[in-house]
Amino acid sequence: MANFFEDNDDLRFYVDKGVDWSELVALTEYEWRSPGGPKDVGEAVDLYRSLLEALGSYAGDAIAPLARQLDTQKLRIEDGEVVHPAAMTEIFEGLQQMEVYGLCLPRELGGLNLPVLANNMAMEIIGRADVSVVAHYGFHGGIAMALLLYSVLEGSTTFDAEQGTITSTRWADAIEEIRSGRAWGSMDITEPDAGSDMGALRATAEQDADGNWLVTGQKLFITSGHGKYHIVIARTEPAGSPDDPFAGLAGLSLFLVPAYEDTPEGRKRLSTIDGIEEKLGHNASATVAISFDHSPAQLIGKRGEGFKNMLLLMNNARVGVGFESLGLCEAAYRAAKAYAAERPSMGKTIDRHEMIADMLDEMRTDIQAIRALAITAGLHEEIAQKLKLKLKFYPPSERAELERVERAQKRHAAKSRRLTPLVKWLGSEKAVEIARRAIQIHGGAGYIKEYGVEKLLRDAIVFPIYEGTSQIQALMAMKDTLLGVIRRPQDFVRREATARWKSVDAMASRQEKRVARLQSLSYATQRHLMARIFGGKVWGLRQVPVSGWTEAMSDWDPKRDFGPAMLHAERLIALLTDVAVAEILLEQSQQHPERAELLERWLDRAEPRCRHLHDVITTTGDRVLASLKGAGAKDEAAK
Ligand SMILES: Cc1cc2nc3c(=O)[nH]c(=O)nc-3n(C[C@H](O)[C@H](O)[C@H](O)COP(=O)(O)OP(=O)(O)OC[C@H]3O[C@@H](n4cnc5c(N)ncnc54)[C@H](O)[C@@H]3O)c2cc1C
Repeated sequence: MANFFEDNDDLRFYVDKGVDWSELVALTEYEWRSPGGPKDVGEAVDLYRSLLEALGSYAGDAIAPLARQLDTQKLRIEDGEVVHPAAMTEIFEGLQQMEVYGLCLPRELGGLNLPVLANNMAMEIIGRADVSVVAHYGFHGGIAMALLLYSVLEGSTTFDAEQGTITSTRWADAIEEIRSGRAWGSMDITEPDAGSDMGALRATAEQDADGNWLVTGQKLFITSGHGKYHIVIARTEPAGSPDDPFAGLAGLSLFLVPAYEDTPEGRKRLSTIDGIEEKLGHNASATVAISFDHSPAQLIGKRGEGFKNMLLLMNNARVGVGFESLGLCEAAYRAAKAYAAERPSMGKTIDRHEMIADMLDEMRTDIQAIRALAITAGLHEEIAQKLKLKLKFYPPSERAELERVERAQKRHAAKSRRLTPLVKWLGSEKAVEIARRAIQIHGGAGYIKEYGVEKLLRDAIVFPIYEGTSQIQALMAMKDTLLGVIRRPQDFVRREATARWKSVDAMASRQEKRVARLQSLSYATQRHLMARIFGGKVWGLRQVPVSGWTEAMSDWDPKRDFGPAMLHAERLIALLTDVAVAEILLEQSQQHPERAELLERWLDRAEPRCRHLHDVITTTGDRVLASLKGAGAKDEAAK
């Protein structure tokens, strides 16, 4: 009997005391207006815990034993439809019987009204058993929730504020089909010539004489793309200048496109599944290429706001990948730890050898760091979104309270925006590293399929690629950080000075000083990059005082000026992540002294890593930048 929730002390810490559930639960229950729900926070958290226990047992006893079959049984296409292998079908029938489809949907729409955060914890638990199950499961409820959210935002959902219930919503039928397990959903962005560069998307949407929208184009690598309800991004306006990679983003709109409809005469396909992709891992989850040819579509939100709306869905999905990665990391670490405790070498088990003990210690610490970051980011994102709903549907009547809620919403949204790319980056990169180390610790057995650890590496390698690659996360974090400095230079100076002062403050604890030193290193790195950007932009302005940065950067051009920062973006995101985790763990250890040991473990590894990153960022890169400049000049000359 295995239970992937009960055996995980660190995850249980968050459910039991690490998360302050009070605000999130109150918002989820529409401040206790919602009928049929728990009567208080304690009862709500008990419900979440029971569900996680049930899923933990299902993941441990029913999914994990099927991992090998999930990896080897093939998906196939029959009569134009994807057929899942027996193991996957069995697992999803079990999940359907447990009634855990659409966990986060409001009760009036047939769901359990679970916070997204609790659902994400469930994703970790299932991901530990098999990540293709979690990809398939996550897209399921995720698309139903996205349809609800989009409908709320565009104003096509009505809400009874007194009763705390949704009274109508535009895509109620689609949501119900998905919730009941009769239909599946997907998010269709990638095309043959456009992945990271969404400005290059070519799928188009046009209106017929009656104003009905029709979508045409091919989408590639679509997870659960065999399903019925596709959220498709397509071009409704011309792409703009081909020289400007961002020019095309304004011309994109979002659509709900049913891939087929079931009629009394049988299924009528409105799109074509071109094929199932053969992949390195994630073998039980269907990843398909799909073509739309004048397929009937419904515009979601406003025309031209597709990119903005897609990002909304992607932010949640990116935090979700953090939790999915966590599940895989747990599986890899536990397999490695168990094997190392049994395997003798040179007179003792290998976990007693220094290098292996060090690897296991780092793996454990990294997993706890990812979880701290993912839970914090997820909490801020969800509270920000739910405060937005509160402001829309049941805003406070008193002005002062209204303003307080508006400020809180902005604060949570800013924190989520800061942490989301870090979670996606850290979770994905560490999943690959930890799976690779699990193989190494298994020695030759790690390379042999029978032991199941090589599957973890094959499954992990896609994490830094989908939902925005690691490099795209790095660019987002870098731009947000440095543009923040440019927009609010005085704020940057104040934070920098506070960190410097705190690092030597006699009243500060040893741990506060250590975290402050890490922050100082990050600010020094940001200052260096800003100086490089200034140096590149206006020769001789390296010494511009910070207060003059906003003005001096008023005509910045990302392609021309941000070269040094782009070159070092992935190093910068590593540094920003180390600092963000340290800050979160410091706060945690101040509230829960038993967590201080984890903070120390993290700092022991983060400090030298950050010094190294600062060193590389401040001393390297010129050679590559010069060669790129040379290549650019050659391209110009050849035109
Ligand atoms: C198993 C799987 C499932 C998927 N599921 C979905 C899905 O459900 N829906 C969907 O729409 N897509 C899905 N994808 C596609 C995935 O999101 C894309 O593959 C991903 O966004 C990368 O795009 P690309 O493959 O075109 O690579 P490219 O964008 O061509 O990138 C190639 C490399 O160049 C780097 N790069 C690109 N631009 C820059 C830059 N400006 N600076 C620095 N480096 C850069 C990238 O980081 C990457 O390393 C899936 C892919 C896989 C493998």
